[in-house]
Amino acid sequence: MDSKLTFEDLGLSADILEGLKKKGFEHPTPVQAQTIPLLLNGEKDIIAQAQTGTGKTAAFGLPIIERITPGLRKVQAVVLAPTRELASQVCEELESLKGKRNIRILPVYGGQGMAIQLKMLKEGVDIVVATPGRAIDHLNRKTLKLNDVKYLVLDEADEMLNMGFIEDIETILTHVPEDRKTLLFSATMPSAIVKLARKFMGDYDEVKVAAKQRSADTVDQIFYELYEKDKLRALHRLIHTEEEFYALVFCRTRVGADRLASKLSGMNLDVEALHGDVTQAQRERILAKFKKGHSTILVATDVAARGIDINDLSHVINFDMPENSEAYVHRIGRTGRAGKTGKAISFVTPGEFRKIRYIMEQTKTPINKAILPAGQAVIEAKRNAMKAKVFAAAETEAPQDYHTLAQEILASGKPSQVLASLLQLHFGGGLNPNAYPEIAEPERGRSSSGGRSSFRRERGSERNHFIKPSKGGSNSRSERPAGKKSFKRKSRTGAY
Ligand code: AMP
Repeated sequence: MDSKLTFEDLGLSADILEGLKKKGFEHPTPVQAQTIPLLLNGEKDIIAQAQTGTGKTAAFGLPIIERITPGLRKVQAVVLAPTRELASQVCEELESLKGKRNIRILPVYGGQGMAIQLKMLKEGVDIVVATPGRAIDHLNRKTLKLNDVKYLVLDEADEMLNMGFIEDIETILTHVPEDRKTLLFSATMPSAIVKLARKFMGDYDEVKVAAKQRSADTVDQIFYELYEKDKLRALHRLIHTEEEFYALVFCRTRVGADRLASKLSGMNLDVEALHGDVTQAQRERILAKFKKGHSTILVATDVAARGIDINDLSHVINFDMPENSEAYVHRIGRTGRAGKTGKAISFVTPGEFRKIRYIMEQTKTPINKAILPAGQAVIEAKRNAMKAKVFAAAETEAPQDYHTLAQEILASGKPSQVLASLLQLHFGGGLNPNAYPEIAEPERGRSSSGGRSSFRRERGSERNHFIKPSKGGSNSRSERPAGKKSFKRKSRTGAY
C-alpha cells in the first residue's frame, strides 16, 4: 500500500470521505487504490484478482455508491456472491459505506424471509446483493427487474464457478442491459473465468494485487508435547472439543497423509487426503468438496498444499512438524486470514523440542505450549455439540407426516427412552469418558516412540515453562488463550 495515498486522492466526494473517516479507513488498500479511479473515471469493465481481506468490497462498493442515483428505487447495481455469508458481509459493508446517502440495499439469498424480500423489492431498492440461485428465483417470479442495472459485480467469481453457478450467472447476465459495467473479482483466474469474461464482458482493465500478508496477530499458535503414537488420539480429541474445525492437517509423507485420512474417515469424519499421488482431476474434486465444506478436514503434504487458496480455515494442524521455519510460516498462513482469528496447532514429539524452539526464534513469535483436553472436557464438548445440533434442527419446521409419527411414538409413554435411543442412533456412541484415557505427556529426552510407560504430567510445574517464546508470549496451558475471540465462520462443523 502506498502510505501517502489518501481516499481524497482517489476522487471520492466529501460525504463519502467523512463516512470512511468514521469507519476508521485511513488509506486505501492496493485494490482500492487501483480500482476506484478506474471505476470513477474509466469506461471499461474491470477484472480484479484479489482475495477476501484485501478490501475489495469497498473497492467496488465506493464507486457504485458514488455513481448510482440516490432514491431512484430501481435496481442500479447487482452484486452476485457465492454464499449467503459473503452476500451478507458485502451488504453490511455497503451499508456502512453509504453514509447518509439515500440508497437502499437489499440482501437476497435463500434461508432468509421471502416475504420481506418481496415487500422490499416491490417498494424498490437501489442495490441488490444476491446469491445466484435466489436471484434466479426472483427473476422467474418477475419480482426482480434488472433493466436499470448500471453495475454488475461478480464477487468471488472463481468460487461461484466452483460451486456450479455458471449457468445461473449466464442466465442473470441475459437480464441486465448491454451497456452496464461488469466488475469481476476473483482470488484466482482459472481458464473458466477468462472464458466467462471473454464471453460476457466488454473491453476490460485488469487489476492485480498480492495476497494480503498473514498477520501473526490473527493466528493463535500453540503446541502440544506428545509421543508419536498418541498423535491420532490427540487430534481426535481436538476435533471434538474445538468449537469449529475446518482444518488443513499437514503430514510429512504421502503414505502418512493417506493413513491418517483413512483413520479419521474410520472415525466418521469428513476427511480427504491430498498428496503427490493424487491426479489433477481428483485434486480438483477434493478441493471443490473441501471448499464447499462437504469435507471439513484436508490432510495434505507440503507439496500438495502449494497453491491451495482457501481463506477461512479455522485450524492448521502440524500433525508432523515442518522441515523448517519457512515451511512453518507458509503452513500457518493458511488460517487467520480475512480479519478472522485462526489457530495453528503443532504436535511436537520429544525429538522435536529443539525444532519448535528454533522456529520461535526464527519467526520471532511465541508459540504457547498447551495441554490436551481431558476426557471429561471432550465429553462435555460433544454433549454441547449434540444439543446444539438437535436444537438447530428443531428450528426447522418438520413435515406434518413426521409430527404424526412423533405423536404415535410418544404415545408409548417413554419419551426419554425414545429420545435417548434416537440420539444414540443418530450420533453413535462416544459419551463415555473412559473412552478417553489420559494422553501421556513425554518427559524431555525420552525417545519419541513413547514405548516407556513412565511419564509425568506435572501441570503447572517448571516443565511447562521449559520452552520460552523468544518475545512477548506467555506459556498458556489453556486451549484458548485469554483475550482471543473464538473463530466464527461458515457453518461447517467437525464431527457433528
Ligand atoms: P474485504 O476484502 O472487502 O472483505 O475487506 C476486509 C476487511 O477490511 C473489512 O473488514 C473491511 O471493512 C476492511 N477494510 C477495507 N478497506 C479498508 C481500508 N482502506 N482500511 C482499513 N480497513 C479496510
